[in-house]
Order: sequence, then C-alpha cells, then structure tokens
Amino acid sequence: MSILTDKINDSNVIAVTGHVRPDGDCVGSTTALYYYILENYPEKKVYLTLDTPPASVKKCIDCDVITAPDSLPDKVDLFVSLDSSTSNRLLEAAVEKFNSAGVSFVVDHHKTNIGFGDINHIDADASSCCEVLFELLDYDKISVRTASSLYLGIVHDTGVFKYSSTSKRTMEVAGKLLAKGVDSAFIIDTSFYEKTWKQNKLLARAIDKAEISEDGKIAYTVISQADLSEFRCGSSDTEGIVEQLRLTEGVEIAIFMREDAANVYKVSMRAKTGLVDVSEISVLYNGGGHSKAAGFTAHGNYDEIIANVISEVNKRWTV
Ligand code: AMP
Ligand code: MN
Ligand code: MN
Repeated sequence: MSILTDKINDSNVIAVTGHVRPDGDCVGSTTALYYYILENYPEKKVYLTLDTPPASVKKCIDCDVITAPDSLPDKVDLFVSLDSSTSNRLLEAAVEKFNSAGVSFVVDHHKTNIGFGDINHIDADASSCCEVLFELLDYDKISVRTASSLYLGIVHDTGVFKYSSTSKRTMEVAGKLLAKGVDSAFIIDTSFYEKTWKQNKLLARAIDKAEISEDGKIAYTVISQADLSEFRCGSSDTEGIVEQLRLTEGVEIAIFMREDAANVYKVSMRAKTGLVDVSEISVLYNGGGHSKAAGFTAHGNYDEIIANVISEVNKRWTV
C-alpha cells in the first residue's frame, strides 16, 4: 500500500496525464499507471489523456487508449500528473480538470517541481518518473505490460542506464521489472536506438550546422522549420541530437534549439559533468528540468537567444 494506491482505492473516476510532447519516461509512466488501474480495478473508470507519443515509443507501447482532454468526464475523483514539472506543461484543456479534481496528485522527479497538486510525490534523486512510480505500486499487481512501460521510461530517461542519475536503486528496479518478463533488447533497440532514415538525415544537418565556443566547451546547433519540412520531420524527430553534441570530446555544455514557429524555439540543454547547473538557466526562461538535462521555450531571434544562453552559462562555471 502507498499513498497513491490508497487514493486509487478511494476513487471511482481516475484520470492520468503527463507533459506535452511526451518523451519515453512520460509515455512509460502514464501508460504504466493507466494499465495498472485498468487491470487491477475493473470496477473503476480510468482515462489516459496525453499529447501524441513519439512514433518510436508507440512501437513498444499500445497508446491507442488515449482520450482527448475535452472528452474527460466533468467530475474526476483522482487526477494524476506524471513526469511534468509544472502545470504549464500539461495539455491546456486538462489543466482545469486537474485543478478541480477531488484529489490532484503529482508524481515526478524534476528538482524544479514546486508541487502543483494537492498531494505531491517528488523524488529528485530518482532517474525517472517511472522509477518513482514503481515504488508507489504493489509489485504483485504489476503485469508484464505495465512492467514494459516502466522499463521503457527508465531506459529513455537514463540514456540506457548511463546518465549519472542511474543509481543502484535504478538497476534494482530495472531488475525487478525484467523478472516480470520484459523484453529488454526489443525495447532498447526499437524505441531508443533505432532511427528512421529521415531522422538520420536531420541529425546530419544538425551536426553540419553545429558550432563550438569557449574553446570547445560549449557546442550548439539549431534545426529550423525549413530543415524539418525539407526532411518531412516532426518535432519528435529531433530526439537524440543534443545527446550527440554532448558526446563530443571536450564539450561540457550542449545546446540544441528547434524552431517550433517563427521566433519560437524549444531549447534543450545538457551538461556533461555538472560544472554548470543547466536547470538554473531553464528556470530563467520558465522551463525546468535537472542539473544535467533541462529545457525551455524561448521567444525571439536565434542569434539573441543563443548569445544570451551562452552568457548565462559563462556566469556559472564552477571552475
Ligand atoms: P529535453 O531537453 O526536452 O529533453 O528536456 C530535458 C529535461 O528538461 C526533461 O527532464 C524535461 O522534462 C525538462 N524540460 C524540458 N522542457 C521543459 C519546459 N519547457 N518546462 C519544464 N521542463 C522542461
Ligand atoms: Mn519527460
Ligand atoms: Mn522524466
């Protein structure tokens, strides 16, 4: 029993959601909780409302169960938000129903999360929201389908168990999920490493346009709307680009900007060793994240934004 399963027991109508433009951890945690409730509490009504998941994740998780936020019942007893650091990142049409639910419940692992629910279960030391959720569920009630969703989320948010957020506990949770019969190799290859041809072409374009500054300690690049349409790519096709910059020898800070509309950029930041806490910079732009991985949306022209972000990085080097 946990505080979450207590609230599930007390509720009849339950809704589950996550952040917009969901990544693997977000789709993994929300579908895991959805299937967990569906399978173990057949007498309850459960809804999953979520923005469109990435195609790569849909190859491993059945996402056909998603309900549009407008179609949720007016009265929700328990509304759970997973992997979202603020209510600003929930689907706009879901926010009002989240706030007016009998109980709004936040499960997350972002250190920038100030707790926007009635109940907030936030563990900033956890690798992923899936790791946090695992500990709130009854192990005996986790099916292979639920375990696969949780495993996928951990795989994605740890970059396949390699980021520094990967702890002994992360590996123990992953081991317990494997014991449920999860097909680890399939999930890792199909949802994480496999790229479409056009994604590879887009990565090549991003690397081609990349620049370095501060003696190679900062690497940055941009993908414009024209680049996206040239390769017929969508916003989720840029996944992995910032990681490729981060993996460059000598690079400490990687910055990737994706033009989402004229003068609107989604910015992703990564820090290699933690000499700069990139979440501090994301918060300046009303974004959020972790010390080594953070993101935000910035308005303005590309040259000004990148110059300002680099100057914020330069204010913060700890050595
Ligand atoms: P990304 O760069 O999108 O891969 O995100 C890196 C981390 O920052 C993830 O943990 C995100 O949840 C978080 N993040 C990204 N964008 C935002 C945003 N606009 N607001 C709050 N957190 C964000
Ligand atoms: Mn996420
Ligand atoms: Mn996450």
